[in-house]
Amino acid sequence: MDNKIRLDIVTPQGLVISEGVDEITATGSEGEFGVLPGHVPFITTLKVGMLILKKGNAAEFVFVNSGYAEVTSEKVVILADSAERAEDIDVERAKAAMKRAEERLQHADKIDFERANAALERAAIRIQIADRKVTR
Ligand code: ATP
Repeated sequence: MDNKIRLDIVTPQGLVISEGVDEITATGSEGEFGVLPGHVPFITTLKVGMLILKKGNAAEFVFVNSGYAEVTSEKVVILADSAERAEDIDVERAKAAMKRAEERLQHADKIDFERANAALERAAIRIQIADRKVTR
């Protein structure tokens, strides 16, 4: 694991990803950030978005449903409500979730609006990420 950074993603489903990568890019609440081995320690909240895992010349894409990231010089731990690798995203399910959210948004009071909007955002980002899969 020389010069790798360990990434652990924990969700209510358990440890969904645990591996060594060369670089991680994530969507923090304050904006996108990149982590290489030796990064200064920090903690941030994450927005719903995409993680990019670089391994050599390959890049892998992971959906992360908000949460927290704790960065140390050798490790990134992400606690999230849900997370899936691009290739594990069920696009039909995301499209169905999107349709449900859009229908709710047609006749939503304030609380429903926020919930439906969040569901819509998760579905839209999953659909985008599913399209990316692995690039080399
Ligand atoms: P849905 O309405 O389809 O359940 P959601 O955004 O409310 O979508 P989450 O609460 O984020 O779902 O996730 C619940 C569980 O289902 C998690 O384990 C998550 O990884 C999984 N999941 C949700 N949507 C998808 C999808 N499109 N493809 C693969 N797994 C999914």
